[in-house]
Amino acid sequence: MSKLNSIQEVIDSNLCCGCGLCESVAGRNVLPMKYDSSGFLRPHVQQEPDPNAEQLVLQACPAVNANFPLENEIYDLTWGPVRSMRLAYASDAALRLKASSGGALSAILCQLLSGGEIDAVFHVGADPNLPIGNQNVISDSAHAVADNSGSRYCPSAPLAGLSRLRRDGRRFALVGKPCDIAAAHALEISDPDFRSHFPYLISFFCGGIPSIAGARRILSELEVPESDVAEFRYRGNGWPGKASVSTKSGVTRSMSYSRSWGEILNRHLQLRCKICPDSTGESADIVCADGWHLDENDNPDFGEHEGRSIVIGRTERGEALLERCVSDCSLICEPIDAAHLAKMQPFQAKRKQLVFSRLVAMKLCGLKTPDFPLRPLLRAARRAGLIANLRSFGGMLVRALRSRR
Ligand SMILES: Cc1cc2nc3c(=O)[nH]c(=O)nc-3n(C[C@H](O)[C@H](O)[C@H](O)COP(=O)(O)OP(=O)(O)OC[C@H]3O[C@@H](n4cnc5c(N)ncnc54)[C@H](O)[C@@H]3O)c2cc1C
Ligand code: SF4
Ligand code: SF4
Repeated sequence: MSKLNSIQEVIDSNLCCGCGLCESVAGRNVLPMKYDSSGFLRPHVQQEPDPNAEQLVLQACPAVNANFPLENEIYDLTWGPVRSMRLAYASDAALRLKASSGGALSAILCQLLSGGEIDAVFHVGADPNLPIGNQNVISDSAHAVADNSGSRYCPSAPLAGLSRLRRDGRRFALVGKPCDIAAAHALEISDPDFRSHFPYLISFFCGGIPSIAGARRILSELEVPESDVAEFRYRGNGWPGKASVSTKSGVTRSMSYSRSWGEILNRHLQLRCKICPDSTGESADIVCADGWHLDENDNPDFGEHEGRSIVIGRTERGEALLERCVSDCSLICEPIDAAHLAKMQPFQAKRKQLVFSRLVAMKLCGLKTPDFPLRPLLRAARRAGLIANLRSFGGMLVRALRSRR
């Protein structure tokens, strides 16, 4: 019930989402990000952090905080700040094929590089030392951006590199999960110089981060020993594409998206993802997502198609960038409205509505909960109706009681 007053309490309460800010602010020798026994990236306390550094982390830590800019006139309680909604794909056909959905996110990054508005992109790519895992990467060419395209459904800690990048002197577009970008945005408030180093914050809709154990399960079903993995892609090379592994001896095996994400990876999510109040990247300048086609019953069709991304412009600078992408034809776009978006993304449309009931269940079980603003979450919960709220309350109650045993 009490507040989370230290980084150790955030870790102990299992609410950390592994953004990496701890390492960046307190130092790699103090709070390095490493895999824990459950397969998630977490800060490991090597030394007591400096109290000022710890306070700075706790003010921005997404395990503790969330921010809904309700006063913003373009704010939508379900989708966050929205200046424009589009369906889009990269005009570069190779990028469209290789990327996660339509390659829109990477095309936007390439536009920023070619226009000279940034010097490089800071994002996430495969770790050569752990091909199922992630590492933070700097891409300073369109080729490198394309190489690091594609969603990687395993832990990433992009904010771990922030302090180093600030000293680097170049201007970066920062790509991260919504929780990473929310923490970066919170830093911006206490650091007025932040945007001169990171002029663009880009994110995507997020269903949750699976533990690295999820990828290991895929490998085991594909009967590939981890030591034999040369390359591992979670999806892409098609839309949605397959999870595919290439071995050192040149064999390739793959698994459908509905099996890999729908039945394996999404069973390995961290607690913070179950109570995520902002899985659509409300603090980003631009967010991208899967622009699923609809079947005859208006449900998302996860079959293979040519890639298509949803692109939402949230801020003035994000919208101006999208206009440039449209006018130089790096993105091929058509407008959509919120009703169409809700059909393509039914899970995300309901997500925020279920957080309030889950927080209540956690509190009733005596678990520590984040300091999220409750009023907007209660407003969102009212839209879900009684049955959905009772179900999500019950689900979290069972989970919370089990975790106390
Ligand atoms: C963990 C995760 C969960 C997701 N859940 C959903 C969802 O529920 N609904 C939905 O519509 N879309 C979801 N997405 C986003 C979706 O998979 C696509 O990224 C999005 O549609 C944009 O596609 P694109 O082709 O435009 O992006 P691309 O051009 O392929 O670019 C993807 C970018 O994401 C970065 N990236 C990849 N993996 C990670 C990671 N683990 N952490 C941080 N950055 C990363 C890459 O570095 C790259 O810059 C999720 C993505 C991830 C990584
Ligand atoms: S969520 Fe980020 S800032 Fe918070 S404890 Fe975890 S790594 Fe640190
Ligand atoms: S669901 Fe939310 S908490 Fe989980 S990784 Fe995505 S943005 Fe972060």
